[in-house]
Amino acid sequence: MIHFQRLRLSGFKSFVDPIDVVIAPGMTGVVGPNGCGKSNLVEALRWVMGETSAKQMRGGEMDDVIFGGSANRPPRNLAEVTLVLDNRARTAPAQFNDFEELEVTRRIDRGQGSLYKVNGKEARARDVQILFADAATGARSTAIVSQGRIGAIINAKPSDRRSLLEEAAGIGGLHSRRHEAELR
Ligand code: ATP
Ligand code: MG
Repeated sequence: MIHFQRLRLSGFKSFVDPIDVVIAPGMTGVVGPNGCGKSNLVEALRWVMGETSAKQMRGGEMDDVIFGGSANRPPRNLAEVTLVLDNRARTAPAQFNDFEELEVTRRIDRGQGSLYKVNGKEARARDVQILFADAATGARSTAIVSQGRIGAIINAKPSDRRSLLEEAAGIGGLHSRRHEAELR
């Protein structure tokens, strides 16, 4: 298990000025009035973990994650999110496993797409996605449940709900692996 230690944002959605959020061990709650940016914060987590769908980020295109301006602030041309991970348990994939702490950064420049860095060194999107998929907390993992999806989960058939829970527990892959083994 890889623990999240801090989340830094700059120019991401409503977070125009740089902020550094410390994520203490245990349960964390984010509270605030409607529209203050709670969901944007969760989307920043999804995004730095390698989300590729603009729709999942409630936008039409990926550039929409960049601060788009407000009544008194001009728009930005870049957004950056950094997630700092505790890798003291050395559970990261081999290529990243020499580090006690991993700083995963994703940056997007308007009109130019995004790039990733791990501890300052450029990394492929795929490697970042695998890093988090292995930690069972990937961008699409059902361990992240979006606003509006809660009703769908409550109303789901028991078998569908079971597969969501299995995925969240990180054992979702076992069935497909068993199926593969049975075919051999
Ligand atoms: P609720 O309690 O209603 O769920 P919330 O705290 O989750 O609210 P968010 O949805 O995270 O709020 O934030 C919405 C705000 O973020 C809106 O004011 C919206 O204008 C702003 N916002 C979203 N994308 C951008 C962007 N690219 N640039 C500037 N502001 C943005
Ligand atoms: Mg919200």
